[in-house]
Amino acid sequence: MALTQYKYMDVIHRCFRCGYCKFPQDWEDVDNCPSYARYRLESYSNGGRLWLIRAWMNGEIELSDHLADIVYSCVGCKNCEEKCPLSFSEDILNMVIAARNLMVEQGRVPAAVKKYLINVQLHGNPYGLASKKRSDWMEGLDLEPFKDQEYLYFVGSEGAYDSRAQFAGAALARLLQRAEVPFGVLGNDETDDGNEVEMLGEDGLMEMVAEKNICRFKALGVKKIITLSPHTYNAFKNIYPRFGGNFEVKHYSQLLPDLIKEGRILPPKLDNVSITYHDPCFLGRWNGEYKAPRKALQAIDGAHLIEMARNRKSALCCGGGSGNYYTDLLGGSEDSPARIRARQAHATGADILAVACPNCLTMLEDAVKVEGLEEKIKVKDIAELFERVVN
Ligand code: SF4
Ligand code: SF4
Repeated sequence: MALTQYKYMDVIHRCFRCGYCKFPQDWEDVDNCPSYARYRLESYSNGGRLWLIRAWMNGEIELSDHLADIVYSCVGCKNCEEKCPLSFSEDILNMVIAARNLMVEQGRVPAAVKKYLINVQLHGNPYGLASKKRSDWMEGLDLEPFKDQEYLYFVGSEGAYDSRAQFAGAALARLLQRAEVPFGVLGNDETDDGNEVEMLGEDGLMEMVAEKNICRFKALGVKKIITLSPHTYNAFKNIYPRFGGNFEVKHYSQLLPDLIKEGRILPPKLDNVSITYHDPCFLGRWNGEYKAPRKALQAIDGAHLIEMARNRKSALCCGGGSGNYYTDLLGGSEDSPARIRARQAHATGADILAVACPNCLTMLEDAVKVEGLEEKIKVKDIAELFERVVN
């Protein structure tokens, strides 16, 4: 049975499986697609996945659990869009998400994905934890609820619930307070931003989540938002306008260079420390922000920035996108993207692996531990590095 409702039916055949979508910018190796790096099978690269989706759409193969696993193993890092030479490249990830839309409609998604989506629907977070626990990260901080402050600080589900990411969420709150940035928070009234719901292909739930957040923001008079997570930043900036939510949104790293310049943040003083920076996909490839986090790190006294061989548009994703930090469809191997990235960071000789995303933080810190590198390289969110010494 051919699936005629697939909206990319007229273009998906254009993929001629050249395989370029797996490469980094320098064409040096083929492992810059996280799912391909993990499984080393063509079907786990974008080109292979598109051919499988096309075969499914044409009725040549049946939808199976294995096909669903393959389609959901893409973490949405956009390396493939950067490297595919064809004019349809801007849609090759959308083609995967459109296939997921159909899998959701047919109720044929991997069990971990189903659990993720149900948790967001029932509890407003992927962990399935109670909404009244959402403000636990604020304990000991003197934070004001959002009223009419200039900014809403939206910590996001990982910053609110994940025990490691909570440190980054709290560090950013303290940093903003000390820099006298006027902000308020939503506490238990915050709910998931839905970025990964979109990536996982659950359009109905995405609409519900976006409308709920937009209604709340509008009722409170929110105009400007600061996010801890680049995933939240992407959702508010690029998805919410589709549902009538137009807010001025900044990832926190984008505020840092100005706050430093204005003297509102005094960069920390370190003693001859080398730092390497991991570009989060939803800040870098998705939104083109490569400069601001680097500018902030370069302002740290006594630190020097060393780039990994794969950086900016060619950064290897930590593997946490598309909800994989929770579903872990790429985990459990020395070829998991987070472990490869931890080794790439260690190869620079850096003392600190700086990140600007709570997903990257948890994924890469776990990977550094599993690799036995925790005495050699520390994983820190940029907010954690900065919040200690501020005017
Ligand atoms: S998606 Fe683009 S880069 Fe990848 S195999 Fe197909 S044509 Fe080549
Ligand atoms: S988005 Fe990333 S994980 Fe998905 S196919 Fe493209 S390169 Fe691979």
